[in-house]
Amino acid sequence: MNIGFDFDKIFINTPPFIPDALIDKLYKKKDNGILLYRIPSYPDQLLRRLTHLPWFRPPIAENISFITSLPKGKNKLYIISSRYRFLEGETNRLIKNYHFDKIFDGIYFNFANEQPHEFKDKMIKKLSIDKYIDDDLSLLKYVAAKNPKTHFFWLNDRNQEQSVTKNIMEIKTLKEVFSK
Ligand SMILES: [Mg+2]
Repeated sequence: MNIGFDFDKIFINTPPFIPDALIDKLYKKKDNGILLYRIPSYPDQLLRRLTHLPWFRPPIAENISFITSLPKGKNKLYIISSRYRFLEGETNRLIKNYHFDKIFDGIYFNFANEQPHEFKDKMIKKLSIDKYIDDDLSLLKYVAAKNPKTHFFWLNDRNQEQSVTKNIMEIKTLKEVFSK
């Protein structure tokens, strides 16, 4: 089975003292219900690079150790993340520090700065992903509608009150992806 994972908030956390609403504001805008992410302007990039410094981005130890403990060879594991090009340096350092390149069969970042939901839709199709896990529900709703055969998992470990659609399942831990 081909299993894809988002990166931020799945394996790497956002800064603990910055509210989620602000993070969303920096990253996302909604025009008439159509999902659109902001490709950040230069001052925004500086601010966002600052919030990506390693000590602001603690690893999610529980999820990293779970994925590391999975038996090798049974599934193909991929990271599919929409991180933009300006974070390439920091991102590659994280990959090296936590040995993600040893854990995953392929790692794909949005370093061509496409719209995140379009980038992920493209990669899900290209890699024939059977299961995909993300914390961004509005993004999941977009890709789920375009990939009806893929099972999507919304990691909602902060108990947000939102309802899922047909091929999206709400989970609290990564373990549930393998038991459902
Ligand atoms: Mg994420």
